[in-house]
Amino acid sequence: MDSILRVEDLHISFRARGGEVQAVRGVDFEVRKGEAIAIVGESGSGKSVTAQSIMRLLPSPPSFVKQGSITFMGRNLLELSEREMESVRGKEIGMIFQDPMTSLNPTLTIGHQITEGLIKHQGASRQAARARALELLKLVGIPNPEDRFSQYPHSFSGGMRQRAMIAIALSCNPALLIADEPTTALDVTIQAQIMRLMKDLQERFGTSIILITHDLGVVADFCDRVIVMYGGQVVETGTKWDIFRSPQHPYTRGLLRSMPRLDQPKGEPLVPIVGTPPDLLVPPQGCAFCARCDEAMGVCVDHDPELLPVGQSGQTAKCWLHHPLAKEVRHETAKR
Ligand code: SF4
Ligand code: MG
Repeated sequence: MDSILRVEDLHISFRARGGEVQAVRGVDFEVRKGEAIAIVGESGSGKSVTAQSIMRLLPSPPSFVKQGSITFMGRNLLELSEREMESVRGKEIGMIFQDPMTSLNPTLTIGHQITEGLIKHQGASRQAARARALELLKLVGIPNPEDRFSQYPHSFSGGMRQRAMIAIALSCNPALLIADEPTTALDVTIQAQIMRLMKDLQERFGTSIILITHDLGVVADFCDRVIVMYGGQVVETGTKWDIFRSPQHPYTRGLLRSMPRLDQPKGEPLVPIVGTPPDLLVPPQGCAFCARCDEAMGVCVDHDPELLPVGQSGQTAKCWLHHPLAKEVRHETAKR
C-alpha cells in the first residue's frame, strides 16, 4: 500500500511560564492509502497536538514545531505557505473535531458551509454545489436535507451537528480525514452511528482516516492499525490484533487493563494505571513511563529506549524489554 502521509521526527513545544513544554518528542508514523489508523493514549500524550500540526492549526505562538517533517502526498506541509495550506485544508485533508461548535460557523447556514468549499476549491457552480450538499446531508443521515440546508447550526442537535461537520469535511472528497475524539461528546447510540458512518465512507471512497481517541472499544471496531502515544512519544505500534491480543509495551498493557471491554469477564475489576504522566516541562531522561512501570529496570531510568521491532508483523515497542540484551540486563538488575 502506498503511504499518503509520513510524519518524521516531529518535535513540538509550547512556551509556558517556567519554560518550554515539550509536548511532542520525536514522533514518527505513516498512514497508507485507504487505511484507518488510531492514535490512542491518555490526555496530554500529544495526540491532538500531533493532529493539529498536520493541519497546521496549532496556536502559534505559544506553540512551535521545533523539528521534523510532515509529508503529505509528496509535499512537506510544514514548508507550505499559509495560502497553499488553506487549499490543502478542506480540499485534501478534512478534519472533524470533538466539539462541532468550535468549527461550525454559527452565523452561516449549514448549506452555506457545505457549499463554500465546493465553490471555492472545486469551482462548482452554486447550483451544482447545492445539489452535492443535499446529497452529502442525505449521505450522513440528516433527515429532510432540503429544510436542513437553510438552517443554522443552533437548530441542530449535537449528533446532527457532528454529522453536518462530517458532511463539510467530506464535501471535497479529501484523501485524508482526521477525526479528533469525534464522538466523545455524544451519547453511546449516536457515537456508534457516527463511527459506522465514517467506516462506511472509508470503505466506499477509499479515504484514509486518522482517528484520535482514548476509547479502545471504538478502535477495535474501526481501525486497521494502532499507534499508542505516551508522554509525547510513540511507544507502541501494531495492527489492532497485535495491540489487543498481544500488547508489548507495559503502558499499552496498562491501558487495556484500565478500560472496560465488551468481553469483560463478570466481576473482573478494571485496574487503573497508578501514578501520573511525566511533566513535559522537564521530560525524563530515560523511559517516559519509568516512574509508573512495574517492570522497570536500572537501564530504564537514564536511557530512553528506541522503538524496537517485536515479532514478524511489523509491531514495534519502545521498551528495553524488547532489546536483544534485555534478558541479561534483567538478570544483572536482579543480582544487584
Ligand atoms: Fe518499563 Fe523500562 Fe520498558 Fe520503560 S523501558 S516501559 S520502564 S520496562
Ligand atoms: Mg485531545
